[in-house]
Amino acid sequence: MIHTSVDLHGDGKRQGFLQVPYSHNLGGWANVMVPITVIARGPGPTVLCLGGNHGDEYQGQVALMRLAREVGPEEVTGRLIIVPALNMPAAKAATRLSPLDGMNLNRAFPGLPEGAVTSQIAHYLSTVLFPAADVVIDIHSGGRSMEFVPCSHMHLVADREQRRRMLAAMLAWNTDFSFLYADIAGTGLLPVEAENQGKVVVTTELGGGEAIPARVHRITQRGLRNVLVHSRVLVGTAETRASLGLPPTILTQALDRDDYLLAPESGILEMAVDLGARVTRGDTIGWIHHLERPDRAPERIAAATDGYLITMRAPCLTTQGDCVAVIAQEVSAAGVLEA
Ligand code: CA
Repeated sequence: MIHTSVDLHGDGKRQGFLQVPYSHNLGGWANVMVPITVIARGPGPTVLCLGGNHGDEYQGQVALMRLAREVGPEEVTGRLIIVPALNMPAAKAATRLSPLDGMNLNRAFPGLPEGAVTSQIAHYLSTVLFPAADVVIDIHSGGRSMEFVPCSHMHLVADREQRRRMLAAMLAWNTDFSFLYADIAGTGLLPVEAENQGKVVVTTELGGGEAIPARVHRITQRGLRNVLVHSRVLVGTAETRASLGLPPTILTQALDRDDYLLAPESGILEMAVDLGARVTRGDTIGWIHHLERPDRAPERIAAATDGYLITMRAPCLTTQGDCVAVIAQEVSAAGVLEA
């Protein structure tokens, strides 16, 4: 049902829209317009670059708008397909979920061709853009709900060769931390669909919250460029942390439910530990204060494992069951490849 106003094939640089039918009270024949840029030159890999899967995560959207404007076909070998704001209605509303249908695009895969707007976008990716791609980059941050230490991350996919290529691409972002994560909150994720199609999938959690420091924009934009050079779709020589004079990334994983700390009750979250800090099992990570009963001692939240605080809840106001922190254990690259 989605109309593509730009030709995905052929050399050159083209800007257009994915046009998603959306008939509503004041727009009977309206489309949701999702910008897409194609930049291609000759044979080579196709790399699909996606931002705004969650609308309130702007680091990737900014980086991809810049990339789409700044890169010319002469810098490309193969094809770059760039969609800066996949969930356009959510990006315009600064929300994680689509305001049109209440759906989370990152839980909507593989999607439905005649479903809600969000489901149609997922279906288009699953059936048109993923099959055309060798590498899928899906840039996330914590949005308004979480704050991450800026990191690239990945799933521990079963196929060893795919895992090896994903690990190398993840490390090419050159972030201080890298993170292997598990899905504790539902199915239907974009990266899982792309992984199931055998793609090299690179994902990130580049900070979060609503204020994005300049440093985080730089990490996002420089890392993205380097992953594209690493993937051989942009000409140039890839940087490594060693070539930049940096120590190796701290490679971490949080694959057990115990690593994901949920609020035991509602209240006001006070963090006791800084992002990226090393903690030991039993350490106090934070407290939940009771607004209505300040005389009650706050509820203590303790680390269930040793590791690094990789992410924390961004808003202080917390509801029972919210994820307030994730503790990730350090692992070796060799261990990841053998696991
Ligand atoms: Ca996200």
